[in-house]
Amino acid sequence: MLSVKQEKNGIHVAKVGVKGLRMTIYIYIYLIDDCLIDTGPSRSGKYIIPYLQQNRFDQVILTHHHEDHTGQAAWIQQNKNVPLYIHEKGKAICEESGNYPYYRKMYWGKREAFQAQKLHDVLETKNHTFEVIHTPGHAEDHVVLFDKNNGFLFSGDLYILRRPTNIWGFENMNGIINSIKKVMPLDFESLYCYHAGAIPDGKKRLKQKLEYLEELKGKTVAYNQQGMTEKEIVKQLSLKRNILSYWSFGAYSPLNLVRSLLEEEE
Ligand SMILES: [Zn+2]
Repeated sequence: MLSVKQEKNGIHVAKVGVKGLRMTIYIYIYLIDDCLIDTGPSRSGKYIIPYLQQNRFDQVILTHHHEDHTGQAAWIQQNKNVPLYIHEKGKAICEESGNYPYYRKMYWGKREAFQAQKLHDVLETKNHTFEVIHTPGHAEDHVVLFDKNNGFLFSGDLYILRRPTNIWGFENMNGIINSIKKVMPLDFESLYCYHAGAIPDGKKRLKQKLEYLEELKGKTVAYNQQGMTEKEIVKQLSLKRNILSYWSFGAYSPLNLVRSLLEEEE
């Protein structure tokens, strides 16, 4: 199902629930002026394609290359004559069809190849000006869009949860911490998150996430210095595997979180 809601700042939000075995993950596609932000996964095409057909947009911004964000990009390229933009680090990845494990293909569907152009530092729509900020960590090509005049941020997958206990093996937690630190000085209040929707007190929650991660990092490093193994640290911190962790055969796990926090910073 896809439901549409109008938010303040002239933002149209299309919410889609993607069902799996014993879990539903929500995604939020944003339309602001002539600009679509992220496209949704290919598996939800029967809900998303009619929405894309009914609505006008002149450009598509991709917050990063992951298949739940770019799954409809090829359809848009083939059916709507509009440019797609992504951070330059994601460009080559998108030119090939998505190469990721089969459980992700089953959940989100296949991500077909498409051609994206390099995102510029500033994005102009009819009524808004956005600063494009590179925020790697969740993905190398991850960006957020900051509207300084109206004080909000399209945050892609930077936030998602206030207290993550499991992460993907491809995520770099120190990168995420640094990216949150990079946006904290900016003057905004609300967040538009890809998996949590509109969050009016988003900055406060993002700050709470940063505090949680820094505390977790402090403890992890201390336990590591005491000679504990990564597995022992997971236990000591009472970090539990969640359903997504079992479903992904451990590709999403507390162990990744601990391991990533102990990695050398670049
Ligand atoms: Zn992602």
